[in-house]
Amino acid sequence: MGARASAPTTSLDLDVRRLPGVGDESAKLLERMGLRTIGDLLWHLPTRYLDFSRFQPVKRLMPDREQTTEAIVGRVTERRTARGQQLTEMELIDPIDGLPAGVKASWFGRQFIKDRLREGQLIRLSGKAQWFGRTLQLSNPKVEPADAEAVHTGRLVPIYRLTEGLKEGNLRRWLHTAVEGGPKRTPVVGEVPEMLSRDTRARRELLPIGEALKEVHFPSSDAALQEGRRRLAFDEMLTLQLGLAQRRLRWQRDARAPVLRAADADVETWLAALPFTLTGSQQEAFGRIREDLARSIPMSRLLEGDVGSGKTVVAALAARIAVASGAQAALMAPTELLAEQHHRTISSLWAGGGPSIGLLTSSVPAAQRRDLLGRLASGELDVVVGTHALVVESVEFKKLGLAVIDEQHRFGVRQRTTLREKGTDPHLLLTTATPIPRTLTQTLYRDLDLSEIDELPHGRQAITTHLRTPAQLPKVWEGMRLAVEKGQQAFVVCPRIEPEPTADELPSAVATERELRAGPLKGLRIALLHGRMPAKDRDDVMRRFSAAELDVLVATTVVEVGIDIPNATVMVVLGADRFGLAQLHQLRGRVGRGTERAYCVLVSDAMESARLAAMTELGPDGKALDGFELARRDLEIRGPGQFLGDEQHGLSELRLVDLADIDPRLYRETAAEADAILAVDPTLDRPDNALLAAAVEALWRRHGLA
Ligand code: ADP
Ligand code: MG
Repeated sequence: MGARASAPTTSLDLDVRRLPGVGDESAKLLERMGLRTIGDLLWHLPTRYLDFSRFQPVKRLMPDREQTTEAIVGRVTERRTARGQQLTEMELIDPIDGLPAGVKASWFGRQFIKDRLREGQLIRLSGKAQWFGRTLQLSNPKVEPADAEAVHTGRLVPIYRLTEGLKEGNLRRWLHTAVEGGPKRTPVVGEVPEMLSRDTRARRELLPIGEALKEVHFPSSDAALQEGRRRLAFDEMLTLQLGLAQRRLRWQRDARAPVLRAADADVETWLAALPFTLTGSQQEAFGRIREDLARSIPMSRLLEGDVGSGKTVVAALAARIAVASGAQAALMAPTELLAEQHHRTISSLWAGGGPSIGLLTSSVPAAQRRDLLGRLASGELDVVVGTHALVVESVEFKKLGLAVIDEQHRFGVRQRTTLREKGTDPHLLLTTATPIPRTLTQTLYRDLDLSEIDELPHGRQAITTHLRTPAQLPKVWEGMRLAVEKGQQAFVVCPRIEPEPTADELPSAVATERELRAGPLKGLRIALLHGRMPAKDRDDVMRRFSAAELDVLVATTVVEVGIDIPNATVMVVLGADRFGLAQLHQLRGRVGRGTERAYCVLVSDAMESARLAAMTELGPDGKALDGFELARRDLEIRGPGQFLGDEQHGLSELRLVDLADIDPRLYRETAAEADAILAVDPTLDRPDNALLAAAVEALWRRHGLA
């Protein structure tokens, strides 16, 4: 945090070794978990709790259940077992009547028990009781003097993430010291700076930060724990909300983009020249984009549309508007293959005298590339198509008016920021066919406007999906042969490139292609396509497949996103259980783009897979589940990780907010507070907001977004 350097030193900044009981060895272990200061330690929050909150009278202990009880130490004996382990046994006296309770406690290898606990002392024990013959016995229970503050027993006991060699009890004890009384003998939690105003806290009925931390580490009750967590989650969510809202505000206030317009008559001409009419939602989305481009506030729009809904043409139209206004446009794709395809598609759309367009991928020869970069810098070239990284990193534009980031189903904040730092503030259009569950979109894309293409072009056939086992493959290949005889094309997708001598027997593209060519698909025009092939060969294969000079493409997931071959009608996915739902949906979306009936075969031994079942399930409309529904299922099955890119990944590690399942109340309240705070202090410059500003900065920095 920026504010820290000048702030007076608090116990929070002190080395963990300043805590009683933490020596060099322990400090080294803590360091391994990134915990250097007492403050770090304090923010090492429990991952879960054991409920030892209810005391069970020692005479009423029940077998096979975790319980806490109080008892007086009776006779303690030590002996060696047949296996040579040291066994400590303790008779327990009922504190209520002072008589033996008929219950024993026993520990293996715990010499210190005898040294630490004296006969007659009142102790508290937590653990599971079990019958040994006719005696009920607590085996290896946690134990401590009953007059001591209950650290290990007696309530909700926190469980922490550990590292090898670090003992749970030690970590808990250090934390207890930190929470209750640190090196200065006053509770360290009392020194945690409060970043919320009194008003906010009162309005939202939130605990003070110190109290919240204390309750989260050592809950005084279940309800108090919930309140503690609510407070911490509030801070985290508010920080995120502030960051996003601020970014948007700043953007709208400071950034100036070129005003891009085209005459209606020109747009009519472009539309008339398309080989099809736009669908209603394509028109609507394009209409919105036109309005956005005509303003000097830079557009930040996410264009969502299911696989095959026709986003490319909308993006190409937007690029044309930019060029018509004397600006340039960049279209960025996630893979070379896709960049090549877009380049091909758009070039042919504009063949009758459209803007000039160039392709920039890593496989473009150096000389050609230099030439292309030169023409972009001079403004001679109108549009560049390339991979995300290349365009963002290496291109200088004369006047970049519009940047389209295709298949940007990841956060993309970093790319957006880098682009904007190029001295220009281009309008931004992000497209994605991986529908992001709405709860996630709401939060992560709060700084974007949304357009949805929610219909497929006319005349699309439903794609049927079949599940087959590897044993049924001969029939599958027969079907493929029939489709090819009708002049159609097919994909076979494998989970790996080359055969590997591991036991999992995953089908590889290389081996599958060889086998199909020699056997079941003999005589058909088959080619191989995968990411390790030289880009030139890949491009060549794609070109031949596009031109229908090939019948069957045996590929890896390089064809997953965006590839558009309307004549392809059969998609066979081998080892289908290896793919995520979003991936399978994308793969299936490679076929059924034309007017012929298409089908998809998922081949797997794992017939009971929930994902495969979801792929064959039909919705209430009798059609396969759409991308949104599948994304929702995927979120349920696999969690939010796959929706989060590199940059978002950090966000998936938010400590208290579950992005996959944001509490609506928390969302509403933090959004309202963020807006209220920024309404008064849009830049968070006021001294009373310094801590909030630092928190936003820290969150952003932690996720590499600063
Ligand atoms: P995606 O949204 O998945 O990126 P594409 O932009 O690749 O989809 O478009 C899928 C296919 O649909 C392409 O072959 C494209 O030419 C075609 N297409 C797009 N819009 C229409 C339309 N309105 N009518 C008919 N075909 C269309
Ligand atoms: Mg696309």
